[in-house]
Amino acid sequence: MKVWGSKGNPSQGKARLAFAGVSLLCLFLLLAAAASAQRTPLKPGWNMFTPQQDIEVGKRAAVDAERQLPLCNAPKVDAYLTELGVRLAAKLPTGGVQYPFAFHCVNDKAINAFALPGGYVFINRGAIEVADNEAQLAAVMAHELSHVALRHGTNQATKTQAAEGFLGIAGGIFGGSAGGALLTQLGAFAAGGVLLRYSRSAESQADVMGTQVLYDSGYDPRAMAQFFEKLEAETKGKNPPEFLSDHPNPEHRLERVDEEIDKLGGVPPTAKRDSAEFEAIKREVLALPVVKKPVPGEAVAPKTPVLPSAKFELYQGNAYTLKYPDNWKKYPDNNGSGASFAPEGGVVDDGSGHAALAYGLIVRITQAPGDPNDWDALNNATQQLIQELQKSNPNMKITRQSERVRLNGQPGLATYLSNDSPVGGQETDWVITTLRSEGLVSFVCVAPQSAYEKYDKTFDAILDSVRFQK
Ligand SMILES: [Zn+2]
Repeated sequence: MKVWGSKGNPSQGKARLAFAGVSLLCLFLLLAAAASAQRTPLKPGWNMFTPQQDIEVGKRAAVDAERQLPLCNAPKVDAYLTELGVRLAAKLPTGGVQYPFAFHCVNDKAINAFALPGGYVFINRGAIEVADNEAQLAAVMAHELSHVALRHGTNQATKTQAAEGFLGIAGGIFGGSAGGALLTQLGAFAAGGVLLRYSRSAESQADVMGTQVLYDSGYDPRAMAQFFEKLEAETKGKNPPEFLSDHPNPEHRLERVDEEIDKLGGVPPTAKRDSAEFEAIKREVLALPVVKKPVPGEAVAPKTPVLPSAKFELYQGNAYTLKYPDNWKKYPDNNGSGASFAPEGGVVDDGSGHAALAYGLIVRITQAPGDPNDWDALNNATQQLIQELQKSNPNMKITRQSERVRLNGQPGLATYLSNDSPVGGQETDWVITTLRSEGLVSFVCVAPQSAYEKYDKTFDAILDSVRFQK
């Protein structure tokens, strides 16, 4: 509700109040004025992760990002961004969570910025160069920081995972239950697209909270709209700036920012727009050497992982133990029943922002009825599992029908499948299943076909090491 806008004349309103005296009308106007002065309340949405997990996953992804992105390596610029960023973050409603904010300049001319969960913010030099003043740079940073406080990254991951239900291999998210493995897998920055793909409503929220943060930090809140107007102008006649591919343009973006400024009581007359530091930093950024952009795809092209070590480490799950190469990482599910094991570079982006396992092993326990010694029950449960996998991996084919094997002395089935590899070409999936009282335990061994023979022995050794607990 709006009694008078920022552009209106507040004294007019006061005059009306005085005229009405102490009356119901007056009371109504007072209440309406109070309502109009209220900023839009914003809170994080549904999330299966804890804020602490936001920090953990963000930290891991940030380490990868720092390794993969061409950083400006300009200490003065990073120090300036940090000082500005920390000042803005201090005005962020985080619900008492202490996020370890960190800010980096990326040597990339594309107008972009992104924030990983937990507060790891990366700002392209292009965003600094295009900003007319400090308030506009503060605007894009306040927008990013709002994604952190509103926990949009893991909120998005939560929604994605829920939508995909049972999650397969190329579907790429492991551990359908609590998402613990997803969390760990997404630590790979290349695989972390899910965390940076926001919905339009998330964008709008980040704009509104960002506007509040600008206002509370003493900056001209109109800079938020101004920065997006600049982005719009950049869109004319060419590809949209990168920023808009990660941060889709919400409807009525500029109007919504103006509306929030009205709610905040308008632009303060003393609002800060620029600083000498910003102008000096911008000059320094403009003078940085230009890093040639890698061919699209190359930046995230996975390196072929180092071959598996012959030394093994023990993994202790709830229902079983196994040994895996000591140069692989383990990614246990939250509930401890399932886990994935992969070498560095074994988890990649499948091209749509999902983490996919290209090299390694996925262990899953799924509900399945039947006596552990009943071959028919095992066969039925195995076929059902394969059908589920095929739902999320449409090109997955059985290349060798299930054969009877023993796993830790128990009846098991071994099935070979082929599938599109997330690193290109075909992959071999060797699936070993066995029935236990806790359900169907499946071990899915994955490697590209061209490299499979180099992994064969390792997979054998891992499966030989499996011990079920009583
Ligand atoms: Zn955004």
